[in-house]
Amino acid sequence: MTVPRLAIDLFAERFGDALKLDQPLAKYTSARVGGKAEMVLTVKSADDLLAAVEMAYAHSIPYRMIGGGSNVLIADAGMRGLVILNRAKKVSFRNRGFSVVVSAEAGMNLSSLSRQCISNGLGGLEWAIGVPGTVGGAVVNNAGAHGSSMSDCLVTADIWVPGEGVRLYHNDELEYAYRNSLLKHEDGFVVISADLTLKLEAAAVLNARAQAFQTHRKETQPSGATLGSIFKNPENYYAGYLIEAAGLKGYRIGGVEVSTKHANWFVSDESATAEDVRLLLAEVWHAVFATFGIKLEPEIELVGDWHFEMESQTQSDEEQM
Ligand SMILES: Cc1cc2nc3c(=O)[nH]c(=O)nc-3n(C[C@H](O)[C@H](O)[C@H](O)COP(=O)(O)OP(=O)(O)OC[C@H]3O[C@@H](n4cnc5c(N)ncnc54)[C@H](O)[C@@H]3O)c2cc1C
Repeated sequence: MTVPRLAIDLFAERFGDALKLDQPLAKYTSARVGGKAEMVLTVKSADDLLAAVEMAYAHSIPYRMIGGGSNVLIADAGMRGLVILNRAKKVSFRNRGFSVVVSAEAGMNLSSLSRQCISNGLGGLEWAIGVPGTVGGAVVNNAGAHGSSMSDCLVTADIWVPGEGVRLYHNDELEYAYRNSLLKHEDGFVVISADLTLKLEAAAVLNARAQAFQTHRKETQPSGATLGSIFKNPENYYAGYLIEAAGLKGYRIGGVEVSTKHANWFVSDESATAEDVRLLLAEVWHAVFATFGIKLEPEIELVGDWHFEMESQTQSDEEQM
């Protein structure tokens, strides 16, 4: 344990059974791999989330938010410090003439929010049907699909900033780009809630649109333990096309293989380790670079105690080109 006993006791006193020690994390991620965390705290309200990060910050305990765990590859060696599983999911709606502002706590499941909006005749979040994870993860990653993304509907977000407290960020301050935002580059920022603007539309139209998106997902994406797209699409290309053209569909390392249905997705079996995924990711990266000279950028995030040298491998590949 690297967290001092005194700090653990303070967390246990404040949060009771919601705090677990030495917990396996694989079950909290869609890849179903990864080691243990020293402390795992499940929070069910924004107040508890704020209390947890304030306490962690005050006691210099490293912390990491996990929403749906659908974009993180947690190291087999696990994570030191505190993992906060965000299950704060209060949602409210405010009328604004022809539009409605939806306020959602960051632990709200994004796809469920999308369904709720559709059934209330609110358009603008249909693309999120079937996107796993939470509102918080989507705000951080600028999640998107079918030509739309979080940045198209987000108005503001309440964000806890280390040493400062909660600050209201407007959309244009979050530096949104394709699967990217300011929040991916700032350590320790925590999304508490987000306000999204949606417009009134007939529920039948929204339902039909969502249904078409779901059908497309079923037809093109594999099921099972996966992290979705492993790499971002480079400009003018699809990562899946490049990986397939490099001859890697079905390529396997340990318990993980490049999906035969969609080459930018990896699918794991029960024997898979996080290191298998990481090695396959590196192998695919190098094969695409060697074949096309294109450097793919991972969309997934490696978190926890990883020990490897990606940079030096990258450099030696460039020298060989
Ligand atoms: C089957 C499948 C399909 C997918 N399809 C898509 C798709 O169509 N489009 C797309 O964009 N993505 C897709 N993804 C990837 C993933 O769903 C998104 O990136 C999603 O937004 C991640 O949300 P999450 O809550 O799971 O984040 P997590 O994986 O839990 O976390 C991701 C990052 O956000 C941080 N984080 C989480 N919550 C907070 C918070 N409240 N405050 C601060 N930081 C936070 C974490 O620390 C981590 O750094 C897919 C994944 C899978 C498994």
